Amino acid sequence: MLVGESNRLVVLAVFTLLTLGAVLAVGGAGAGAGHAPRAEHVVLLVWDGFDPEYRHRVSTPNLDALAGRGLVTTSRGVMQSITNPSMSSLATGAFPERHGNTAYVYDPEAGVAVGQSRALAVPTLAESLAAQGRTLASVQWFIVQDHGVRYGDPRALYTQPGGDCAHRVDQFGDLLAGRPVDSGGERVTVPEVPDLLAVYCDDLDSLGHRVGPDDPAIDERMVEMDRQLGRIVQLTRDAGIFEETAFVLVGDHGMTEFDRAFGAELLDAIASTGLSGEFLTSGQSPAADTDVAIVVGGNASLHFLGDRANPLAVARVRAAVSRLPQVRAVLGWGEQRLLRMSRDVGELLVEPEPGWTAAVDAPAAPAGRHGSTTEAEATLLIAGAGIRPGGFALLPRHVDLAPTISALLGAAPPEGAQGRVLWEALRPAGR
Ligand SMILES: [Zn+2]
Repeated sequence: MLVGESNRLVVLAVFTLLTLGAVLAVGGAGAGAGHAPRAEHVVLLVWDGFDPEYRHRVSTPNLDALAGRGLVTTSRGVMQSITNPSMSSLATGAFPERHGNTAYVYDPEAGVAVGQSRALAVPTLAESLAAQGRTLASVQWFIVQDHGVRYGDPRALYTQPGGDCAHRVDQFGDLLAGRPVDSGGERVTVPEVPDLLAVYCDDLDSLGHRVGPDDPAIDERMVEMDRQLGRIVQLTRDAGIFEETAFVLVGDHGMTEFDRAFGAELLDAIASTGLSGEFLTSGQSPAADTDVAIVVGGNASLHFLGDRANPLAVARVRAAVSRLPQVRAVLGWGEQRLLRMSRDVGELLVEPEPGWTAAVDAPAAPAGRHGSTTEAEATLLIAGAGIRPGGFALLPRHVDLAPTISALLGAAPPEGAQGRVLWEALRPAGR
């Protein structure tokens, strides 16, 4: 789909306004402390790459049944809409400007391009809950590993079973039934059903990258994911905790199809301003005569090296790159601050039109990418104990989930959280 220039600006403006909502709502972040719990347990299911479109394309009886006990909507994610920065916002309730997790950028101090990391400048939900005496288990929700949960700790357990979602749900069942599970090579039995149980599945993301979001294989996998959701619910029934459990199912980002590349045109556009660009992959350093380092991860982060980072040079490159028909948007300093992005992103972030990647090489067949504002929304379901059936959530965002989960458990939110409790979706305490 081609989007006109004015529509692009509208989309960007809406995104910005929604993101800025956090500023107005931030007073709510601290309000989760000290009130009565609404749920004994929270089951947090994080499905990597759960694009909002997917659930509309197939029948999802288990998801629908659960949504009947709460609500299903979309959650506004963060920029960049890449797994680790997005997951970091889910885990901390903070925007990338504060948690600092950044992906696919150039690190000027190390002099190399870097991919994804687990760097976090603020505490996670897991750290916050553990500090308040709560018990936790995370089945492969890796962003909290050693940030609140760890191998071998029965009260704050991390496990990494690998495999597909079904395999991870097997282990969820073991945890609920009090059977020992493998945790970093050690057999560990949890002493009770943990207050927060997280399960991470990346089936939709890995398939989406491989075949693109519009492939029928996605529909088949979505049916299978719904089946696994049904198993999760049944396992909580078997364990006798269904009625006291709140369920939060969320994706980290969406997915956009592409089959064409415009890296050569991007280099030409930079060259037209008299500067030389160079694509770098993780671990690579730029050549001595390179002016602009380009790191691609669902978008292209342009880093002006040394004294080339002057406002005039940046403005010239921005103008030249913006004229490319394959470019949907260019986010400069102002847009990046409004979107509350990490300061480690380059001076310019180039977002491709759907169908395109800013890389040099096109894939052999349609593939999937994410990282831009076009993939910054994901599916969100909140249901069960403490949630109003048939309720609503007003413009929910990733940063609202850690405060909301904390509130469900009657706990204070993580210290660095900038999001708000989605009070409008919750039942009054004690009902
Ligand atoms: Zn991905």
